[in-house]
Amino acid sequence: MDSTAVLSRVPAAAGVRDRLRAAVLDARGRLAGAAPAGALTHSWLFTGPPGSGRSTAAYAFAAALLCTDPDDPGCGRCEGCRTALAGTHAELLRVTTDANQFLLPYIRGEVIPWLYRRPTTAAWRVAVVEDADRLHTRGGEDRCANALLKVVEEPPERTIIVFCAPSTDPADFSVTLRSRCRHVHLPTPAVADIAGLLRAEQPELPAEQVDWAAAVSAGHIGRARGLLLDEDTRAWRGRALDLVEAVFDPSGGYLRARDMGELAADLPKRHFAELEERELSELGESLGIGARGRGAQAATRGTKHLFKELEEQQKRRRDRMGRDLLDQALTDIAMLYRDALTAALGAGSAPLVPDRARTAADLARRLPPEALLHCIDAVTAARGQPVQVRPTVILTALVGSLQRLGRVGVR
Ligand SMILES: [Zn+2]
Repeated sequence: MDSTAVLSRVPAAAGVRDRLRAAVLDARGRLAGAAPAGALTHSWLFTGPPGSGRSTAAYAFAAALLCTDPDDPGCGRCEGCRTALAGTHAELLRVTTDANQFLLPYIRGEVIPWLYRRPTTAAWRVAVVEDADRLHTRGGEDRCANALLKVVEEPPERTIIVFCAPSTDPADFSVTLRSRCRHVHLPTPAVADIAGLLRAEQPELPAEQVDWAAAVSAGHIGRARGLLLDEDTRAWRGRALDLVEAVFDPSGGYLRARDMGELAADLPKRHFAELEERELSELGESLGIGARGRGAQAATRGTKHLFKELEEQQKRRRDRMGRDLLDQALTDIAMLYRDALTAALGAGSAPLVPDRARTAADLARRLPPEALLHCIDAVTAARGQPVQVRPTVILTALVGSLQRLGRVGVR
């Protein structure tokens, strides 16, 4: 019993996969009455930069623990494995927040009681705390982390907690929890590792598509997955890179930048339209609106602010997605200029945007290295603009700067 197929979703680097496999086998052994082998512990801390696959690894680990196949823990086929990977298993708790910080009532009122209940449909309960860096405030009180301390110190017999954070730095994870967790670090994955992981997840997709997504992802597993599976993500990346080419067209560049800015506001609207509609009607139903009669009308008057609150939340979510789109586009643009600079300097390092090598070579021919360096600075400055500035403004201003640096229209 050592196939643990679901752990093929964990990057193999740094021996992480082997350590988790040993922990899963130890967990099985304990169920069969064997003495603990020491590979399993109740509290884990998975760290790694964004895109390193730390939450993918956490859910794969959870699936392997919750697997019900008697001979092949983490088989990837049973109901336990499948629902755990989908995040819907009854003995799996996803501890997440949309806000910058976890709220104490949520941790105290929902998470901790859940951790103390015994599993009923599997041998273990597993809680995955995504973004565990949001458990505490920078330089402030660690009330959420402190609330969890007792569970972590004296864990219930069948409960496993996996914290995911960028690093073990005190700014990223509570020092008191840290010393009580077993630490697993996931480094930035290599292109070949990302391709291997995606192949394991999507065995039916053509290998060349998988390899392309891995190669252009800049070491970010989630980004590679998005490029592989989502047409909109691919199209958005194409637009960003096209914009770099369009800079040398005096009016065309400006128009493209404006279109992209408008799309950055439009795509989130389309993306969330159905969800927003549903949230509004659910709120209405929960308040009994839609029923007839005076009582319902009085309820409507008293609940206006609840609708307003929901609409504001929805707007914030749309704005955040628009901002993420803009950030992503600017990252792609910066990578292409980086390639151009590398080419201009004659350095032989591997390109970040291998599918636009011609554009990079063209830029390197047109602009001296200093100008390319200034272009990268201009993109970085665009990324640093405050959130209140509309994407259209940021992108058109950026194209203006890039045209000045490229001496477009100057004879
Ligand atoms: Zn299974």
